[in-house]
Amino acid sequence: MTNAKIYDVKPDIAHNAHINQETYQTLYQRSIDEPGAFWAEQAALFLTWQKPWQTVMDCDYSQGHIRWFEGGKLNVSENCLDRHLADRGDQVAIIWESDNPAHDKKITYRELHQQVCKFANVLKSQGVKKGDCVCIYLPMIAEAAVVMLACTRIGAVHSIVFGGFSAEALKDRILDSNCQYVVCADVGHRGGKTIAIKANVDQAAMACPDLKSVIVIKNGTENVVWHNGRDIWYHEAMQGASDQCPAEAMDAEDPLFILYTSGSTGKPKGILHTTGGYLLYAAMTHKYVFDYHDGDIYWCTADIGWITGHSYMIYGPLCNGATTVMFEGVPTYPEADRFWRIIDKHQVNIFYTAPTAIRALMAQGHEFVTRTERSSLRILGSVGEPINPEAWEWYYHVVGDARCPVVDTWWQTETGGILITPLPGATPLKPGSATLPFFGITPEILDSQGNVLQGEADGVLVLSCSWPGQARSLYGDHQRFIDTYFKSYPGYYFTGDGVRRDEEGYYWITGRVDDVINVSGHRMGTAEIESALVLHQHVAEAAVVGYPHDIKGQGIYAFVSLNVGVQASEELRRELINLVRQEIGAIASLDIIQWTPALPKTRSGKIMRRILRKVASNELDGLGDTSTLADPTVVDAIILHRANQ
Ligand code: ATP
Ligand code: MG
Repeated sequence: MTNAKIYDVKPDIAHNAHINQETYQTLYQRSIDEPGAFWAEQAALFLTWQKPWQTVMDCDYSQGHIRWFEGGKLNVSENCLDRHLADRGDQVAIIWESDNPAHDKKITYRELHQQVCKFANVLKSQGVKKGDCVCIYLPMIAEAAVVMLACTRIGAVHSIVFGGFSAEALKDRILDSNCQYVVCADVGHRGGKTIAIKANVDQAAMACPDLKSVIVIKNGTENVVWHNGRDIWYHEAMQGASDQCPAEAMDAEDPLFILYTSGSTGKPKGILHTTGGYLLYAAMTHKYVFDYHDGDIYWCTADIGWITGHSYMIYGPLCNGATTVMFEGVPTYPEADRFWRIIDKHQVNIFYTAPTAIRALMAQGHEFVTRTERSSLRILGSVGEPINPEAWEWYYHVVGDARCPVVDTWWQTETGGILITPLPGATPLKPGSATLPFFGITPEILDSQGNVLQGEADGVLVLSCSWPGQARSLYGDHQRFIDTYFKSYPGYYFTGDGVRRDEEGYYWITGRVDDVINVSGHRMGTAEIESALVLHQHVAEAAVVGYPHDIKGQGIYAFVSLNVGVQASEELRRELINLVRQEIGAIASLDIIQWTPALPKTRSGKIMRRILRKVASNELDGLGDTSTLADPTVVDAIILHRANQ
């Protein structure tokens, strides 16, 4: 798979792009040679500052000390709203698409600004002050954007908890981040079902004695249990609120938000991002990675509960004055063509989603896609997991009709924004590779002893220089921040991901370092084996893990789920074993294949291999933190099935 297919840059895209092959080279070089000057220029270009900074950057990885633009003052909501009013006050900022395909709503920059000012005053009237932490537990309703921006307007720090999380998970996060205020809805709507939100808050609140108020957005028709003195209706509070609210002058390094990671590898970490550097990095990557132009309709399908929803649905796009689409529902409701119908309905130009969604829709067959037009699309994006070349090709050919470059963007909650990615007008694409570093990003590959590997290499992905969007700490536990990211390889930020660099310097994420399989001394990433499996026309998804093997050290255990309507058979098992041997080599010989209707995933759609590893090794007592699992019954089914084979 090293000799991957290459898709050259499309001349029409390159012609209009902000960055072409030549400018990428020049700017990248400059960002490395003169980072101080480079980032200062970008900060002046992308953001409006109330007061200029004194120092561009001040970093010492050994202490986990990361500071950008210190001394500078700015306000995020002012950058995302006020400064657009003169030129684009009447432009639509948010297109909100309801779970119900008959409903949508458009909100202009002027309207959004007004709502944000009002809600900022509501927060103040509840006693929320600069530096206080506000927990946001909301479904994908437009008010979520209002609440986020209102927090930034008064300097409150938000901590968004995914609206699908349980009361237990919510409670843990409220306590961990010391939130005294919660903003929630009565209910949510997803896939035609009503989801209890407020009831979870009530349950969580029983274990959160410091909670002062719960502001509730009315989103359904049901009655909810009410706690007088604590609960406040959003619409009632908004009615009397003034729409004048000056934007608080924030320090570039003042905290902006806390966000918990997906929990794929263990207990979620409360990542802390700050104001100036984060906003700059989100805005700049949004513009260049998606080649965003004025007037484009841009849609990122991520939930606001994940970092992608923060950086690429709200902050990056709004800072750039874009029209951003927000979708309340799921890709399969009412039918598996919903994404493509929304693209046609709102004439979406840029579409950004996750491999888990792409694979799920692919398993439903082409027809759901081909019966829609999708002619407005120009750029497609992917994030969250390695995208298997097979899924990439389907996305490119079937969804994009071979017209739209696919940007496979590698990054993390901790990185604030995209670090390794193609740029549509500059980077020839290789399906399955996140390609090349963004400006200012210096990936290095280390062996397990920490030696830097040059040229073609396979090892641990680290970053040597800081960038403005980098996380500053783990909330309340700076030592854990140092220990997790800066201890294993001194002088570097450790990503936890494995990577391969090919002969052209392209990066291929091979999976989590913890997931690497070692068969008779040969180290293999999970991504490549899984990609080989999904090449088979009947395979929808696959996850592979290592398990103890007497002779080989580790054997390869594959969990495979098949396309809709396909039956498992001995013949198919043999075909899959051969396919992987053919694609990767005889060493990659699958020992066990377990058929499964579904794979265990985090709420953000990532495969949780650590749980599968326990199942494969028959260590069923130590499944670890499962609070972020999307569907715990999937694990029960997998365990049951294992016992039977
Ligand atoms: P936790 O850190 O709690 O285990 P998590 O790592 O899943 O959770 P996120 O920050 O949401 O939480 O995910 C970042 C990870 O997702 C990356 O480290 C990487 O493993 C994976 N990832 C994201 N985008 C890509 C991509 N384009 N290609 C390959 N892997 C990706
Ligand atoms: Mg992680």
